[in-house]
Amino acid sequence: MKKFRFFAALLLGIVMAAVGAAGGFVGYYYLDRNRFTSEIYTNGAMQVHFLELGNKYTGDCTYIKAGDTDILIDAGSRTDSISTIDTYLKNFVTDGKLEYVIVTHAHQDHYAGFATNENTESLFDMYSVGVIIDFALTNQKEDGAMYGNYCREREEAVANGAEHYTARECIEQDKDVFELSGGVTMTVLDQRYYYEKASSENDYSVCTLFTYGDQNILLTGDLEEKGEESLIEKNDLPQVTLYKAGHHGSKTSSSPELMAVIQPEVVCVCCCAGSPEYTDVAENQFPTQEFINNVAPYTDKVYVTTLCVDYSNGDFTSMNGNITVAFAGKSFTVQCSESDLKLKESEWFAESRETPDPWK
Ligand SMILES: [Zn+2]
Repeated sequence: MKKFRFFAALLLGIVMAAVGAAGGFVGYYYLDRNRFTSEIYTNGAMQVHFLELGNKYTGDCTYIKAGDTDILIDAGSRTDSISTIDTYLKNFVTDGKLEYVIVTHAHQDHYAGFATNENTESLFDMYSVGVIIDFALTNQKEDGAMYGNYCREREEAVANGAEHYTARECIEQDKDVFELSGGVTMTVLDQRYYYEKASSENDYSVCTLFTYGDQNILLTGDLEEKGEESLIEKNDLPQVTLYKAGHHGSKTSSSPELMAVIQPEVVCVCCCAGSPEYTDVAENQFPTQEFINNVAPYTDKVYVTTLCVDYSNGDFTSMNGNITVAFAGKSFTVQCSESDLKLKESEWFAESRETPDPWK
């Protein structure tokens, strides 16, 4: 009997080792944080980076490298994130030029890095900028401190040679499709709140679609349900490989209707998971239970940048960390600086969220 148990354990060990070895390569999808090779890091490929922001506050900063073209979308979450963002960008932006800067909407967790006072260098001061595309409308007051700073810094960038268009101008002037290097196309998507007043600033978000071969990437800023509805109506949205969770994984975004259209394969959430920054209701803290339920039918490959440890003490740590999705040919890889675990495999998820049926 003892002998049988020994062989059973041995057999189980061999099977587990084989599964473990194979686990790294499932179809065309695999995880390997060290796989930052020349094969990926060359012209003709695209990388999408979701950055950690160096503080306890939820915010967005997405950097995209399309061939030789550098694109920065938002720079939150506070002005003290600027040095964190700059340090990261310096690894990739070797000529000091951001060909495109997109500022989705006038909330500090998205534009603080561009909206400094006159004594502090903004990212507009630190990089030369080709084209700035930003929100058409805002509810911010002209004399609001941060909005005023943003307008001044943007005008300085324009005086230094940047072109500036609002998303509405891109649509109305037929400047909504940009052919980038590396065979990547950037499209500014249309939505109703480029033209009409919204009660939530989030709904003014500039939305973009990047296309590389037959792979698509959708970024909607903090757009909420009604905006998403119009996004579906006004654009012929494709199935996407990568979707940046709208509004940090809020329950007011990533509606079942939008998810049914785009059917994402990978979802990245830029937030400080489980932070009480916006609410004490645990299930509504980012990434919310409702968001998880909405994406679960399509994918379990959900990754989150940062984890809240103790908000009142300002303690935070990396969850997946900086997340990079790199595209080459027909394949893509997800590489994370801290951990390759999917959200559903994390300790935070086990303690804080119910597992939706498709993930069981
Ligand atoms: Zn936000």
